[in-house]
This record gives sequence, C-alpha cells and structure tokens, in this order.
Amino acid sequence: MAEFGNPEIVEESLDILIIGGGMAACGAAYEIVPWLEAAKRKGLEIEVRLLDKAALERSGAAAQGLSAINAYIGPERDPADYARMVANDLMGITREDLTYDLGRHVDESVHLFEEWGLPIWKVDEKGERHDGSSGMAPLKDGGRPVRTGDWQIMINGESYKSIVAESARKALGVERIREHIFIARLVKDRNDSNRIAGAVGFSIREHKLYVYRAKAILLVAGGCVNIFRPRSVGEGLGRTWYPVWNAGSTYAMAAEAGAELTMMESRFVPTRIKDGYGPVGAWFLLFKARTTNAYGDHYLETNREMLNEYPPYGQSRVPPACLRNHLMLKELREGRGPIWLDTVGALAGMRESLSPREVRHLEAEVWEDFLDMSIGQCGVWAGENIEPAKKNSELMPTEPYLLGSHSGCCGIWVSGPEDLGAPEEEEYGDVPEHLPSGWHWGYRGMSTVRGLFTAGDGVGASGHKFSSGSHAEGRLAAKAMVSYVMDNAEWSPELDTSVEDLVKELYRPVETYLSFRDYSTAIDVNPNYITPRMLQLRLQKIMDEYVAGVSTYYTTNEHMLDLAEQKLEMLKEDAGKMCARDLHELLRAWENYHRILAAEAHMKHIQFRQESRYPGFYYRADRNFIDEENWHCFVNSVYDKTNNSWRCFKRAHVDLVDKSKPFK
Ligand code: AMP
Repeated sequence: MAEFGNPEIVEESLDILIIGGGMAACGAAYEIVPWLEAAKRKGLEIEVRLLDKAALERSGAAAQGLSAINAYIGPERDPADYARMVANDLMGITREDLTYDLGRHVDESVHLFEEWGLPIWKVDEKGERHDGSSGMAPLKDGGRPVRTGDWQIMINGESYKSIVAESARKALGVERIREHIFIARLVKDRNDSNRIAGAVGFSIREHKLYVYRAKAILLVAGGCVNIFRPRSVGEGLGRTWYPVWNAGSTYAMAAEAGAELTMMESRFVPTRIKDGYGPVGAWFLLFKARTTNAYGDHYLETNREMLNEYPPYGQSRVPPACLRNHLMLKELREGRGPIWLDTVGALAGMRESLSPREVRHLEAEVWEDFLDMSIGQCGVWAGENIEPAKKNSELMPTEPYLLGSHSGCCGIWVSGPEDLGAPEEEEYGDVPEHLPSGWHWGYRGMSTVRGLFTAGDGVGASGHKFSSGSHAEGRLAAKAMVSYVMDNAEWSPELDTSVEDLVKELYRPVETYLSFRDYSTAIDVNPNYITPRMLQLRLQKIMDEYVAGVSTYYTTNEHMLDLAEQKLEMLKEDAGKMCARDLHELLRAWENYHRILAAEAHMKHIQFRQESRYPGFYYRADRNFIDEENWHCFVNSVYDKTNNSWRCFKRAHVDLVDKSKPFK
C-alpha cells in the first residue's frame, strides 16, 4: 500500500481540467454541462475534472460567506457605466473589453444564485428594507434589491458559497469532482512549447501523486495572501482579510507556463476594522458611518484637496479605494491615529430616520454582517467589550494582497470577447510572437498559452467583479473551453517532461526530509533543510520591509527594490531545500513556491513602473506621482522558467467606453 515516501502514481487523460473550487470554478462547473451535451450531440465525448485542494462546499475567497454581492448592475445602469466605474477605481488602467463583457453577464449569475436559494434583501413598495427570507419577488421578476452603493446589494449570505457549490456539484456530478487534490504545476506540450498539455499534483489526504493530461485547463486558484508579513502576530498569525489559503497558485503556475501577466504591480490594501479584519463596505454604504482621526476630524473631508493631485480619478464622485486610503495614511503617518469608524453616530442616525422595525432589522444586521462573512470580527468585538451602538471601532489598512476580483487588478493577460475592443494594430508595439495584435486572439479567457484559461482573480486588468463576477467569468471560460476542445478534437497532448521527473520534482521536499531527518536532534532545525513555515516568514519579512509592506507604511524606492530582488533571488534558491514532514507540509512547501513567484512578479512590476500609480496602496518614494503621459499603459511581463528571468514591458492602454460621460 502507498505510504509517505512511497506514493502511488495515478495517471489520467482528460479533455478539460478545472483547477480550483471557488466562485469561478463553480461558475465553470455549472455552465459547462449544457455545452458538453451539445458536443456529445455532435459525437464528441468531452471528459472534465474539477480539482479542488479543499472541499467545494467551503473553499475559495467566499468560503466563510458574504453579506453583500458587490457586483450587480440591475436595470438602472448598463455595462458601460460599470466599465467606467471599474476604470476609475483602478486609476484608469483596465481592459474595458473585459469589464464591459463582465458587466453584461454578471446579473445572470446573481439571478441564478437567487433561484438556488440565496436570500437577497428587498425593498417594499413603501421603500422599507426586508431580509431575503421575506419571500418578495425575485430580482429577475422585478424585485427591488437593497442597494448599499451603486453596484452592491445586501444578502443573507452565510451559506452563499455552499449554495453556489451545491448547484455546481449537482450540475457537474460528483464523479467529475476530486477534492483535496493540490495542483503544483502545469506541464507544457512536448511538440508545442506554447501549449498546455497537463498538470501534476498530489492528494493531501492519501499518499497519491496525480499526473493529468488535458487539452484545456481553467486555472482558477484565487489570488495571493501572506506574501507580506501580516499585521496579526502570535496566535493570530494567519489571520488576514483575504483568505490565507489563496497562495498565488494562479499567478505562479501561469507564469511558470510562460503566460503573459498584466498589472502585477496592482495590489489591494483594504481598510478594515482593526484586528478582526471586518469589511467596512456595509458600514460606509448602508449604515452611512463616518470616519475620524483621533481628534475627531473627518479627514476624508478635511484632506479632500489632496485628491486634486490625482486628476481625473481623484475628482470623481466616488474617489478610488486607493485614494481613500491615501487620505487616511496621511493621518496615521503624521501621528493623528487611531482612525475611528463612528459606529455610534451611524446607529444613532439610523434611529432618527427609520421605522422601529427597520431599526431593529439593521441593528441585527450590524452583527449579522460579520457573523455572515467575518466571524472573527464578532470575536474581537465580544472579546474587547465593544457594543457598536456604544463604542466605536478602530480602522486600519491591512497588509497588501494580490487579487484580480476586488479593488485590485493583477492577473493574467487574457483574450477578450470577439465583439469588443481589438483596437488598431499599430497601438501594439512590443507584441510577442505568440500574441497577435489586439485584445482578442482566440477564446474568451484564454491566456497567451494555448489551452490555458483563467477567470475570477486570475484575469488581470479587470477588477471589481467580486463573487458574482468571478462566477460569471467562470461561466464564460467554460463555454470557450468547450469550443476550444471541439476545435482541437483530433489533437492529443503529450507532456514535455517524463512522469518520472515530474514525480521527483513534486516529491522533492519529502525526499529532502527523509534523507536528512536524522542529521540533527531537533526536527525543525537542520543544516540540510528549511521548514516551509520558516521560509514563509523569511518571504514575508523581505516583502514587508522592502516592497512597501505595513512596516514602511507602504513605501519603497528603487534601492529598496534592488535589495528585495537580490534577497528574493536567494530565497528562491533556498526554497529548493524546503522539507515536508507530512502531506500537509508538502502542500505548504508548494504553496510557498507559488507565493515566492507571485511576490517576485509583484516586485518586478513595481520596479518597472516608474511612478506611483496607486497612492494609498503603495508609494515609490523616488517617483511619488502619477505620470499619465508615460505610464498610462499596462505593464505586462513574461517569466522564463528555463533561465529564471522576467521580462517586463509596456502595452498600450485604449479607452473603449466614453469617459466624458459621468457614470450613473
Ligand atoms: P468592502 O465591504 O469594504 O469589501 O466593500 C464592499 C464594496 O463597497 C466594494 O464595492 C467597495 O468598493 C465599496 N466601498 C467600500 N467602502 C466604500 C466607500 N467609502 N465609498 C464607496 N464605496 C465603498
């Protein structure tokens, strides 16, 4: 029987692999089924597997649940308004073909969620708000959602992910789903170096290694957390806002496969309730809470003129998330912290304007908002005797995260929809050979590597899709993958590396441990290996101190980045000496490889972009301005695994939606 150090090797040949289990993967799993049936009617049997490193019911960024769906367009606005909003929040540099496309599909996912049982808050004819369980007309039949902001709607969403996962599982069928399998790396085709041919991974429950051959792969393994030293320490270490299990696998595996990445300098530093990481959207937008510095100044208003330094973004009706942080950071840097979220004032204000029933409902929501999605925040409130109606909460910007679905837009450069964009050819200077000019070169959601697709946090330059948009993007990718497989029905993938070598690579941390474990008496101290935990702490220290983490208030410069580059280089070398004492640690070791590569991409892009595009998220102190003339462009990169080098370059940005129109 297989045992640690002597695993069973399982080889499988399939057509489509879905790597991940979050909203995007669930969207793909749901949508792919009718297209598989259509292919079958044409005589083509397409084999699919969904591989999740966790359990589908509670995996991905929305695992804990959510209190709001932050991307729902509704009948009052149109996809162009959405694309304008996303562009503005992300300081002008987004792929508007992708955001517009997302805008025209996202509502359908929300309507499906409601059909599957997700309770969505509603407004009655008197304008009063009700829980989603009240049985009012569904959105698709004209039910009016409770809008918190222009794009967000309230839900009772503790079981949001479970509901979406249940439908995905039912549609795809359990026989096509494998849980607790971690994919460590993708494998290219032996006969075409720019084509995907498979992936390798291991079970984190059994002693089994998996080698998959596949024609198309949807890489949807989320964003990247814990490359920066988190603010939480000691027993809280590992607590972050975006989930700690997002290990950068999407960006790293795509980069290693040679896919072009885009906007990897973009990061998200959310303002959150300190220590509990409770989200603040509902507080600002629904409860109308205000923020002050320690002296009671409303710095968002008193510092407002700082926004004029960043036209046109700073002067928009809703200034971008990074600039909102920028105004707060001035207060913290100049010693006027702590920053307070005025929950007391907000709840008192509500009592003046709402009916007693609505007040009771919203007061319950104050707790439910966090019980639904960020239960640790309730723990902090309870532990610190904070009753929000009586005592305000402290706010703090978190450590940086890499993601492509919230107010950040790093990710993979993908082919857009056929009917949008594709600007003039001469706009595209430095076009790699494998990439035809324009934004559409194949199938929607396909990267520059043939057969490699992504969605959700994986798609770069198109943030603000959130949970619903990630689901919608998974659906779009599923459809595109089926047509790719149908168009390549005669082709069969051949791995460019032998199974023996792949297995050796995958299992190296285990071999290292088994070979050297008797060398010292303390199992975690050994001259021949480093434990994944220690290596991760080292990565976090480098990123924190040199690449604009919390310890420098998100500030770096060319010289700090040079040092980071050298230190990451050495860290990468030492990563080859990580050990794994059990399957769980093997997972941690591989997650670290992924984190290092994602971190390196982030650092290289910040180094390349000669400006500070996202003030409040990061500052290049040596170039602390926005240079619209020279840097209103995408920064893209390609990693060459064979010689361990990155090539960063500019790609022209083109406006597709009319920016002279204010969005509604
Ligand atoms: P959060 O709960 O902070 O993740 O935010 C949820 C949604 O609210 C996102 O769409 C944010 O962009 C938006 N949001 C949060 N805070 C503000 C604010 N102060 N002004 C406008 N939009 C906000």
